[in-house]
Amino acid sequence: MTPRIVIVGGSLGGLRAAEQLRVHGWSGELTVVGAEAHLPYNRPPLSKNVLVAPDASALSATELVNYPGVALRRRAHVEDVSWVTGTEVTGAVLADRVVHTANGRTLAYDGLVVATGLRPRRLPIDGFGSQRHVLRTLDDAIALREQLTTGASVVVVGGGFIGCEVAASARRAGCRVSVVEPFIAPMLRPLGSELARTLQTFHEEQGVVFELGRSVSALIGRPSDLETLGTVILDDGTELEADVLVEAVGSRPNVEWLDGNGLDLSDGVLCDNLMRVEGRGEVVAVGDVARFPNPRFDSTPRRVEHWCVPADTAQRAATTLLRGLSPADSGAEAPAPFAPLPAFWSDQFDVRIQGFGRTDHADRIEVLEGGFAPGWASDGVVVGYFRESTMTGVVIAGGTPAQRLRHKALLEAVG
Ligand SMILES: Cc1cc2nc3c(=O)[nH]c(=O)nc-3n(C[C@H](O)[C@H](O)[C@H](O)COP(=O)(O)OP(=O)(O)OC[C@H]3O[C@@H](n4cnc5c(N)ncnc54)[C@H](O)[C@@H]3O)c2cc1C
Repeated sequence: MTPRIVIVGGSLGGLRAAEQLRVHGWSGELTVVGAEAHLPYNRPPLSKNVLVAPDASALSATELVNYPGVALRRRAHVEDVSWVTGTEVTGAVLADRVVHTANGRTLAYDGLVVATGLRPRRLPIDGFGSQRHVLRTLDDAIALREQLTTGASVVVVGGGFIGCEVAASARRAGCRVSVVEPFIAPMLRPLGSELARTLQTFHEEQGVVFELGRSVSALIGRPSDLETLGTVILDDGTELEADVLVEAVGSRPNVEWLDGNGLDLSDGVLCDNLMRVEGRGEVVAVGDVARFPNPRFDSTPRRVEHWCVPADTAQRAATTLLRGLSPADSGAEAPAPFAPLPAFWSDQFDVRIQGFGRTDHADRIEVLEGGFAPGWASDGVVVGYFRESTMTGVVIAGGTPAQRLRHKALLEAVG
């Protein structure tokens, strides 16, 4: 029988894994099983252009998959991959090397790639389903886009990157926007207080209202129609008018299908530095769902929810898997440690925020270039994040692409 690798999860991580397996010489069968109906597409534009760009506003999901920025380039070497879309994998028996799908199929594999990513968390409050939104998929973005009409009152719960991007898009669409955030500033953990406060002011100048240090305690219907959401009540009793509620309160790894195999699934799938799942040579994980140690920082395994991670981890996972499946290669010299430089970006109004490395565990934050005075958005402000005197991260807000690349190089030299 032809050997087969099954990839579970048909998004960026699944696609990058398929590409890397072919690049590194896998000539057996490759089957990607994905729960979504669409072939892989890019998620970053979903909270940005897709919500507001005039040329995207009338496009259906099928058309949006080919929209600039959303479309992913189809590389020739994955032409022969079998895509099983709209099909959820509901279980796996790793000892027998099989996965089971919701529609009753059993797929046997020689190698398995876990690429099932995340799903949004929800507020623990019932009701008003049609006016409540999360944002992970193209279909989520289309449902939200339809309700971002001029003058609508939008309450975004969660002031992280996705919450702030949605707030900016909703303002651009002419909505009245409030952001409810439990911390003292939006994006506080990844950016630190000074930059976070600067971005808060920037949003406020564009008309976004922040409710900081607050959480949602209840949702109330309109007096004229109790079935339709009208008000969001906060924990201090504040009442916010709401036609639309966006829940941007974090994500949960999709790992339940791996239950019963004795794996550590406490926060995604625990991997070693080779991206092997618990030392198994025939199972690897990639992308947002994978928790792995990065020796660039320390030995603690962590998940990293950035766009560049699927590509980085897929490269490592592919070589590991092929080595595990080929007894002839198993005695070869161990590869160099896998120490990718995390990179992320966020576009809010007309400002790009770009980060490299780790910024969330700094004991010192220092402005390296520019400052927070008016004009920072065009001049750029560069902030360094240090831990025990070593720079572990850098963020550039505003400024030029050349500035951003220069500081990436600086950090690569340090790490
Ligand atoms: C709205 C939005 C905006 C973003 N913007 C940025 C940005 O500006 N910059 C940045 O750096 N990053 C951004 N990101 C993060 C980036 O898109 C993710 O890091 C990336 O999509 C992770 O890819 P993944 O393949 O690991 O996981 P996912 O994209 O979550 O894909 C996992 C896939 O697996 C499928 N699946 C799950 N369970 C099963 C199952 N049991 N069986 C079969 N299939 C299953 C899911 O349906 C999904 O299609 C953004 C993310 C979102 C949602």
